Amino acid sequence: MGQRKASKDGDRKVGRRALLIGGTVAAAGSALLARDELARLWWRVPGVEKPRKDGEVDYAGARWVAASDANWRRADRPDDYGIDMVVIHVTQGGFDSAVKAFQNPSHGAASHYIVRKDGHIAQMIRELDVAYHAGNRDYNERSVGIEHAGFVDRPQDFTDEMYEASARLTARVCARYGIPVDREHIIGHVEVPGTDHTDPGPHWDWDRYMRLVREARTAPA
Ligand SMILES: [Zn+2]
Repeated sequence: MGQRKASKDGDRKVGRRALLIGGTVAAAGSALLARDELARLWWRVPGVEKPRKDGEVDYAGARWVAASDANWRRADRPDDYGIDMVVIHVTQGGFDSAVKAFQNPSHGAASHYIVRKDGHIAQMIRELDVAYHAGNRDYNERSVGIEHAGFVDRPQDFTDEMYEASARLTARVCARYGIPVDREHIIGHVEVPGTDHTDPGPHWDWDRYMRLVREARTAPA
């Protein structure tokens, strides 16, 4: 999220486009499509999906709270879209209001995770799926979004517990997908091309955060 409410997200158009691709597959048959393309599209065939369990989290330290399915789109990452980025956000509000916003189908945006001041982490969208958090379709498809409850102009909102919990989460995401722990791959929402959002803002301590992620990444599990 950030200082401005997310405007229309390009992702909304993708659903229709994916349907069109599905239609093309059905109409044209395999003759026009290379075998690997079909393999990549298999999960779009109705009824064929990776098994999912209600309430399952990707990070053991998180508690599941489902976002409205209007705020993300079903995918099969990292098989259909590779994940090579973590996007850091600040909610511009409290933890509870962020959870409510992501549960609201008209909000139009949500992140995979929200970190609270005390270090509690809610997972609201599976990493398999594309969350509408970055306001940029390509970046949404290739990233995991992590929100931090608080305001960009209130440095006191970014507590030790929050930095440490978030860094452990980011370290696990990086380990899972082989994402390098650097500022090319762990970025702020403000750094997403085309964004009008400013989060996490000037008070987010990047040096400290990256040091904590590196420490967590190399610590024995
Ligand atoms: Zn943001």
